[in-house]
Parts: sequence; structure tokens; C-alpha cells
Amino acid sequence: MKPDPAATGKTSRVFFALWPGARVARRLHELGAEAHAECAGRRTRCETLHLTLAFIGDVSPQRLADLIAVGNCVEATPFTLRLDCLGGWRHNRIVWAGAQICPAPLAGLVERLNGALEAAGFAVERRPFAPHVTLLRKAHTQVSARCVEPIDWRVGGFALVESLQTSAGAHYRTLREWRAGEGEGDRCAGKSG
Ligand code: ATP
Ligand code: MG
Repeated sequence: MKPDPAATGKTSRVFFALWPGARVARRLHELGAEAHAECAGRRTRCETLHLTLAFIGDVSPQRLADLIAVGNCVEATPFTLRLDCLGGWRHNRIVWAGAQICPAPLAGLVERLNGALEAAGFAVERRPFAPHVTLLRKAHTQVSARCVEPIDWRVGGFALVESLQTSAGAHYRTLREWRAGEGEGDRCAGKSG
């Protein structure tokens, strides 16, 4: 059995994310192949494709408990995210699948998450949220930014994920998942109703 970070006192590198189901992951992985043919670099494995909502970094077991409390207090509603463009960033050489329109429930989720993180004393991202799924890292060339056949992703919840760095790239472990549409009332300590 793997050691539990809460028991060993070790820190964990964590982030909040959306994780696609098999169909959307497969479509994104195919798009990754197309991008790789154009730009080379390191392709994200199918099972590790995700969309980061908020990156936290290294936390102690105590702070991990605080993050779970944050997730418990954040309400999410189900929504569809249409991934319909390919783009890249020169500064970190990643190529991503993105959305021309950020759905209001997604923007709201990120806003509530950042608000709850800040209230709990975590540093939050100040740059505007740009929904994207990383398809390639260390791309050799820049991708030609373009619209692609839309991938409609029905999002039904969010997760707190641990990132385990290995020589073969990052591996991820879901620590906790929250279903959208369940309402945060019962699970948020200190809230009534
Ligand atoms: P690797 O670092 O091995 O290339 P990775 O970037 O997926 O893999 P992490 O660095 O642990 O693994 O990052 C986890 C997630 O958080 C990724 O989606 C990554 O893009 C995002 N992330 C990492 N650092 C930051 C940061 N400083 N700001 C915003 N998002 C970040
Ligand atoms: Mg990284």
C-alpha cells in the first residue's frame, strides 16, 4: 500500500482540476497527435489529460485538509465546455486545446474556488483564467493557432489532484472529487442548510 501523506507528514504537490471521461480524453489525445505531427515535443498521455482550475503547489497534510474543506464549500453546477481551438504559449513551449468561450458556470466555479482559497490563506492566480488542456510540452515549434472540430465536454464535477513527479513525467492521483449540482450546504462546515 502507498504511504498516506497525511500519516507520513510529507508535503504533496496539488491542484484543482477537471478530468475528462474516456470519450473526451480520446478526442483530445487524437488532437494531441495532430499537434505533435506539427510541433513535436512531449505529448500528454491520454489518462493524464486535464484542465487545471487552480494550481496550489506543495502543501503539508494539515493544509491538505484545509483544501478539502475549500472544495466542500465550493458549489459547482454541471455545464458543457466546448473545446474548439488549438493554441500555444511561447514562454513555456506548451501547446493546448482551448475554448473560444469560457462558459459562465466554469468562470463562476473558478471565481468561487479562488475566493475560498484566498479566504483560507492560499495564494491565488491573479491572471485571468484561460481554460486549456495541455496537449504538448517542450514543443519544438510554435503551433499555428486555429479553430478545430469542437469537442463537447460535459463537466459533472471537479477534483483535487496530487501531482507525483517522476522521470517519465508527472503522474496524478485524485485525492477527492466533488459532483456538480449536489449543493455545498451539507458538506460545508459552518454553513447551515
Ligand atoms: P510536468 O511539470 O512534469 O511537465 P505538469 O505540469 O502537468 O507536468 P505539475 O507541474 O505538477 O505537472 O502541474 C500540475 C498542473 O498545474 C498542470 O496542469 C500545470 O499546467 C499546472 N501548473 C503547474 N504550475 C503552475 C503554475 N505556476 N500556475 C498555474 N498552473 C500551473
Ligand atoms: Mg509543470
